[in-house]
Amino acid sequence: MPELTRRAFLKLSAAGTGAAGLTALGFDTASAVQVTQNFRIAGARESHSVCPYCAVGCALVAYTQDNADGSRRLLQIEGNPDSPVNEGRLCPKGATAMQLATSARRVESPMYRAPGSDHWQKITWDDLLNKLAQRIKDARDATFVAQDGSGNTVNRTEGIAFAGGAAFSSEEGYFATKVMRGLGLVHLEQQARV
Ligand code: SF4
Repeated sequence: MPELTRRAFLKLSAAGTGAAGLTALGFDTASAVQVTQNFRIAGARESHSVCPYCAVGCALVAYTQDNADGSRRLLQIEGNPDSPVNEGRLCPKGATAMQLATSARRVESPMYRAPGSDHWQKITWDDLLNKLAQRIKDARDATFVAQDGSGNTVNRTEGIAFAGGAAFSSEEGYFATKVMRGLGLVHLEQQARV
């Protein structure tokens, strides 16, 4: 007997439950078939991703459909039942992943609040990167320690700390560490040490 995967089982269960439930309520089977045919993600493209929120790394499936004008519409994001990490489940935070793309409250550009200001303003990514680079340089210049109190050469930047996020890949973590150590940082921390 062929092995029934979790994904196939869930699909069969969904179709079977719909038909049986409707029959019990007095609807005919043809109506039940119509319900499964109108399944919202039927025919949608499946793309796989990973939840960005924490180091558990739950796997996601994003369902998209191409519009007539060539744009792409996101229909649904849910846990990937084939993942050994989350087996289709998501915590409440991960279950809101779709809002990362669709929320009307999503911030779509860098926001800047000037010193002393009471409001935020949109700035470009170039402006943001220039400000960050300038502040890193200023802080490094102001706090760089070439020698410690005993005369040992240390060449360290004590005025900047760096905190990495759990969504870092191994490569991003390695790259960030290299850059920060190159600037002389000694205060490096990571949300998840995995
Ligand atoms: S779904 Fe929840 S537990 Fe899983 S990675 Fe996202 S935030 Fe972490």
